[in-house]
Parts: sequence; C-alpha cells; structure tokens
Amino acid sequence: MTRAPYLSARLQGFGTTVFAEMSALAVTTGAINLGQGFPDYPGPPEVLDVARAAIGTAHDQYPPGPGIPELRAAIAEHVQRFGGHGYAPADEVLVTAGATEALSASLLALLEPGDEVVLFEPMYDCYAAGIAMAGGVARPVPLRPPASGAGQWTFDVAELRAAVTPRARLLLLNSPHNPTGKVFTRAELGTLAALAMEHELLVLTDEVYEHLVFTGAQHTSIATFPGMRERTLVVSSAGKTFNVTGWKVGWICGPAELVAAVRTAKQFLTYVNAGPFQPAVAAGLRLPDEYFDAIAGDLEYRRDVLVQGLTEAGLPVISPQATYFATVDVRPVQPDGDGVAFCRALPERAGVVAIPTVVFYDPAHAHLGRHLVRFAFCKGDAVLGEAVERLGRMRS
Ligand SMILES: *Cc1c(COP(=O)(O)O)cnc(C)c1O
Repeated sequence: MTRAPYLSARLQGFGTTVFAEMSALAVTTGAINLGQGFPDYPGPPEVLDVARAAIGTAHDQYPPGPGIPELRAAIAEHVQRFGGHGYAPADEVLVTAGATEALSASLLALLEPGDEVVLFEPMYDCYAAGIAMAGGVARPVPLRPPASGAGQWTFDVAELRAAVTPRARLLLLNSPHNPTGKVFTRAELGTLAALAMEHELLVLTDEVYEHLVFTGAQHTSIATFPGMRERTLVVSSAGKTFNVTGWKVGWICGPAELVAAVRTAKQFLTYVNAGPFQPAVAAGLRLPDEYFDAIAGDLEYRRDVLVQGLTEAGLPVISPQATYFATVDVRPVQPDGDGVAFCRALPERAGVVAIPTVVFYDPAHAHLGRHLVRFAFCKGDAVLGEAVERLGRMRS
C-alpha cells in the first residue's frame, strides 16, 4: 500500500474509500446508486415539521452538552417501550452527533493505547478507523456466510475465544448487522454475554437498525442479558429510523460512570450538534408503535423486490433479516470471483452501482469476502424497479 503524505501513522491505510469511487462512478455513468445506504424518500411529516418549526427559535443556539432534556427523556422512554429496560435521562443518556460520534467518543474514552477490541467482520467501515484513532487494536472474528441463501451468517465460538487475549478490553457488537443484515440470535447474544463476563470486557453495541427488522427475526439488546447492563453502552441513531441520515442525531445509553467517560471525550469532539433536530427526534421517538411496525414492513417489501431481482439476474442472495442491505455471491456471473472487479464493471454492464463486501474486512482477511457484494434496497419503487429491470437485462 502506498503511504499517504501528511497522514499520521495511526491512519495509514484509511485513505480514500471504495464508497467514494463507486459514488463517483454512479455520477459519471448515470448508474443507479445502490451502494451507499441512504433512503431516497422523506421521513415522517410529524418529525420534519417539528424541525422546521424549531429553526428561528432558541433551538438554533448551543443545546445542553448531554442533549436537550426533552430528547433525553424521549430516548429513555423509547428504550423502555421497545427494550423493556430503563435508563435515567439525567446521567445515563447522552445525545451525540450520530451513532458515529457515539462510537468514536466511546473508543477514545475507554481505550488505552494497545487495548484490543474484539468485533465481527465484515464490519461497518467506521469501526476499524475509530479503533485506530483511539490507539486500539482490532481483533476481528469472521462471520461466515451460509452455505445456501436460506441460512444465516454464523461465527465459530472457538475462533471468537481465540480472539480474546489478555489485552482485550472491549467487545464491539453490531446487531442488526451492517453489511450482512444478520440479527444476532438470543443464543448467540448469550454466548457473547458470557464471554464478556468471563473476561470482564466492556461491551459497545451499535443498534442503529433496531427497528428495521423483518418477519421471523427479533432484535434483542445484549444490554438486557443478566449482568450486562453495568458493562454495556448501547448506541442508536435517528438516521435509519426516521429516514434522516443527514441530521446526525445519535445517542448512547449505559450506566452513569460509563456514560460520563464518553461525555468527557464527546465534549471536545463536537460538544453539541443538531439543535433544531433534537426536539424533532424527540417527537419521532414518541410516535406510536404503528409507525415503527410500518417502516419495518415497508422495508421488508423492498428487500423482497431486490432479492427477487438479484436472484432472477443469476446472483445468489443471502437474504437479510434486517437493515438496508442484501449480499450476493458474484461467482456465477464473475467467474474469477472478484467482487471489486464486478462492482467496477457493473455501472457499464447493468447501470447499477453496488459495494464490494471486501471493503468491510480487515485487509489480512480480505479473501473471506472477496466474492461478495452488497446492494442497498432503501430506495423508492421507481428507482428500485428500474434497478431490478436493469440487473435482469444483465442475464441476457
Ligand atoms: C449508518 C450507520 C451508522 C452511522 O450512524 P449515524 O447516526 O449516521 O452516525 C453506524 N453504524 C451502522 C452499522 C450504520 O449502518
């Protein structure tokens, strides 16, 4: 790998991403961008209206460091309603600049240089960089794709245990999981909880897709397992739940001492953000259950449309249980099994952009994800329909 001038040693290797390359390709070729995961439809009007009304009021100025009291109360109520566990809005809830800041502030606050973070790969792209910025060391454990599209990704407990060394400080979990669409089962979470207790690991769990879960799967937070509350920080965000990925309103819940540590790092990253969006997200979190059921049902329909289209295009799909994304094995249409080459050619070949899953692996484990590609289905009917039609033409 070439060395990036000026970039610190900590961040070498985290240069320009395939995301940027693929999004640029989408623009120059006019291809439909199923690469980056953002919805092309608006959020609920009840939420958008509150944000519009808040602009031009005192909400335009610095909100309180931990977030406005109304939002912290709404977050605690929401966790109680859907997860059945309680956090005190005063000192166990912290509003952040998206889930991204919640994660990076946690890593900066909790890790000593050289501390190890155990996590599953493929992994969301900010994890490895966040660990590196905090001076930590990632210990990735592979999730293995199922032998057939009907199964789910699994991990090997022996491989997991082998990744936990005496330097291990933190387990970084993401369920529902991006990019695979896996929802960790209660049995798997039980295994992880027992491991965290045995090795006295802190747990940082990214649950931004908590509401985007489809029929047959159920999301449970590892924080609800016995003995886990006191060692777990739960991260979520408004972006995916309310179709407002540009607002960057996230939050973190956990025991007061852990949240206080994260707040210390957070106050020198952004201090605060998103003043007028904070009351809007509070209103969103208080929407009735029907809203949350409806967004999951709507996305499940989009999942089905894309999965059928990909299958008909000759691409075997690992059907996701949650999230915005479906993963395919490109080998039937790309005999050398190179997902990056497949994605570079796809705009010309089919007028569609996707992301090679290999970018979500540690470079040392790239062979595990070489043949896999991620497509997003969080797109409106017209765009998704056109994408499926274009992919279908690839077959003939
Ligand atoms: C989108 C996403 C995030 C980032 O959330 P923001 O609130 O936009 O910072 C974090 N984790 C996962 C797994 C995501 O997919």
